[in-house]
Amino acid sequence: MNMINQSELSANDLEFDARHIWHPYTSMSHPIPAYPIVAAEGVELQLDDGRKLIDGMSSWWSAIHGYNHPVLNAAAKSQLDKMSHVMFGGITHPPAVNLCRQLVAITPAALECVFLADSGSVAVEVALKMALQYWQAQGEKRQTILTIRHGYHGDTFGAMSVCDPDNSMHGLYKGYLPPHIFVAAPHCRFDAPWDDNDLAPLRGQLEQNHQHIAAIILEPIVQGAGGMRIYHANYLRGVRKLCDQYGILLIADEIATGFGRTGKLFACDHAEIAPDIMCLGKALTGGYLTLSATLTTRHVAETISNGAAGCFMHGPTFMANPLACAVAHASLHLLLNSDWQTRVQRIEQQLYDELIPLKSLSTVKDVRVLGAIGVVEMQSAVNTAQLQQQFVAEGVWIRPFGKLIYLMPPYIIQPEQLRKLTAAISKIVEQNSLTNAY
Ligand SMILES: *Cc1c(COP(=O)(O)O)cnc(C)c1O
Repeated sequence: MNMINQSELSANDLEFDARHIWHPYTSMSHPIPAYPIVAAEGVELQLDDGRKLIDGMSSWWSAIHGYNHPVLNAAAKSQLDKMSHVMFGGITHPPAVNLCRQLVAITPAALECVFLADSGSVAVEVALKMALQYWQAQGEKRQTILTIRHGYHGDTFGAMSVCDPDNSMHGLYKGYLPPHIFVAAPHCRFDAPWDDNDLAPLRGQLEQNHQHIAAIILEPIVQGAGGMRIYHANYLRGVRKLCDQYGILLIADEIATGFGRTGKLFACDHAEIAPDIMCLGKALTGGYLTLSATLTTRHVAETISNGAAGCFMHGPTFMANPLACAVAHASLHLLLNSDWQTRVQRIEQQLYDELIPLKSLSTVKDVRVLGAIGVVEMQSAVNTAQLQQQFVAEGVWIRPFGKLIYLMPPYIIQPEQLRKLTAAISKIVEQNSLTNAY
């Protein structure tokens, strides 16, 4: 048998990487060397020199059960021996049915119809297309989306068009992106008293423009890559009420917040509301494979299907990939049969105890914690590459961006491992406070 098995990276390989391979948001002319990771197990990433790093990122919200999990490995292997892929046009298969049955059961009751796609950004595209087709089917040309500032919904064009216009790529693609409406993000924090004025900008826009608006899209409770802001559940309740009042669809982008990360299975549960369309991704497969889902109500699905097009116009090649669905099914089973609430609560308490004291430092603007998410916002932007190097020297994997140094570890992390992550942040933030003071 001819096995290709190269598990190490030579200096030559790393040079090739820097010269030829794009990493997320990187330059080809001034590449920053990437760290060679050759294995991962539990909450540890292994560098090719044998050093192990405790993972504080869950590979961007996704590896909630940690790496190399025996149950997920078994699910992937077992499906691999049956069928790794088959087209979904005109065909169905057990992994898709099993997974969708689970998704329909655990998401708010009104969400009954599932569209499977390959990434979070595509799940958002699908949600936006559903909203537009929903209105078109009723003979109305509504193509404007209303959203809040500091949002992040992905990097494809439709998704980008509803990302925060200032800290995203709107400037670069001006003229190409469809114009949507942005209102100020909520100010009331999750755990602070509620002030109804927080809803005034959104209410004002709806009063003026509701007849053009197809949908409101937002990340419920926690805004992720657009600023790691955590807002009050009454805001979400208010948005739901306004959408009902004006007959506008509510799209909840739960791609980052879904599957327990915020302490509830879905962030919408904090407000006990159901959106009309919900996007899921990231932790859906426990971080194993790329897969996303867009769920909607029977009413939206039937309205679209009864329109002139006669169907929903989308169908990716790798839709409902059986391998990904089988692992997602196993991952959800694992999650729902674990004591994830207790684990996330413990992580929340520890993040709170160990990160909140940093608030007193002059270089720290704010510290926020919810569920298994801890955020230290600095007064000014950090040097990601330099901090990354310091973190690796401390034996942890933490990737800051902008002013934010944040943690969202796998739920299986042990207290002493989490302490290593928070201690590394404290040490480096304190060091930087000292250097800034002189
Ligand atoms: C990451 C993310 C996306 C995009 O998902 P990709 O899989 O990276 O395309 C969309 N919305 C939110 C809230 C996200 O966090």
